[in-house]
Amino acid sequence: MIPFVFDIPARRVVFGRGSIARLHEEVTRLGARRALIISTPSEQHLAKDAAGRLGDLAAGLFTEAVMHTPIDMVRAARRRAAELRADCYVAIGGGSTIGAGKSIALETGNPLVAVPTTYAGSEMTPIYGITEGTLKKTGRDDKVLPKTVIYDVDLTLSLPPQVSGPSGMNAIAHCVEGLYTRETNPILQLMAADGIRALARSLPVIVREPHNIEARSDAQYGAWLAGTVLGAAGTALHHKLCHTLGGTFNLPHAETHAVILPHAMAYNSEAAPEAMRIIADALGVDDAARAMYDLAARLNAPPSLKQLGMPEEGLDRAAQLATENPYWNPRPLERAGLRELLENAYHGRRP
Ligand code: NAD
Repeated sequence: MIPFVFDIPARRVVFGRGSIARLHEEVTRLGARRALIISTPSEQHLAKDAAGRLGDLAAGLFTEAVMHTPIDMVRAARRRAAELRADCYVAIGGGSTIGAGKSIALETGNPLVAVPTTYAGSEMTPIYGITEGTLKKTGRDDKVLPKTVIYDVDLTLSLPPQVSGPSGMNAIAHCVEGLYTRETNPILQLMAADGIRALARSLPVIVREPHNIEARSDAQYGAWLAGTVLGAAGTALHHKLCHTLGGTFNLPHAETHAVILPHAMAYNSEAAPEAMRIIADALGVDDAARAMYDLAARLNAPPSLKQLGMPEEGLDRAAQLATENPYWNPRPLERAGLRELLENAYHGRRP
């Protein structure tokens, strides 16, 4: 058995259909009296519903959360929190909304309650990102780790199939990389394998039947495991590449994960045979990377960087950026190999 350090900070998870009904009780439990409720403009009905449930504990709303936590939004959100003298933040939505909540908690240290409605997994991590210009800086701080997470499947039913599939692939990517980072351990590997199993069996059902409660719950359970693995095991090539591509070429977050994952797995497969065996077992296949490509296709996720709007002339630059600021990966970062990976992802070739 590998030697390891097991260090997952305690946090509270309330999981189950209808669990949003416990929001008032959960905020009270944190000793808070003035909650700021955060959402994107398109999910503001969820924020208003949460305010109704909180009654006297609701200090007000901030419904301008946007993707990638740009600094101007962060400043506006922090101003709103200060004006309202909020002592707690309730972020209800996807990773973008939870990112907005984290950016306020980072400044004040007040508790954050996350109510996720996608499968991105941010709610289980102490990782935050703030974008200034074209540069998204990420960091880790326990202040941004939500104190309580409420997973209510009913809030995910409206997530469209074309968002659900890539969002689920984003969660699978956390599990995949968590199997081979240096921080992994046997418990995280159990979580990662079960996360992959739950997501791989539920996502194809969700894409066909978006209101299937069983499948949606299964995916939410998988996303919880995936977020936990991401927060504790960290990341390697796949996440770094997606981060570079998203930041430099403005590609959409979850869809980029869905395109890159099979290719990053193929790149790492010989250097991480045990991880690939666990993934293949979880999927019930022989070749993990090919099966991941096929799963993304079954989910109708965009197959190629080309389809996401990546310029072909950007491939050299992306390969160059991926080898700058080197980081650990099971297989060393080789420019030619990365260029080939990106070329394959650009054209959407099966590994
Ligand atoms: P997102 O939050 O932007 O949501 C994707 C889309 O789904 C949006 O259009 C949103 O309006 C819509 N949506 C969300 N919930 C919905 C619902 N219930 N019904 C209908 N539509 C709904 O995207 P995301 O993929 O969840 O998160 C991406 C962001 O999160 C990125 O900025 C990424 O960097 C960040 N992220 C951070 C971490 C972390 O650990 N810090 C982890 C994963 C992702």
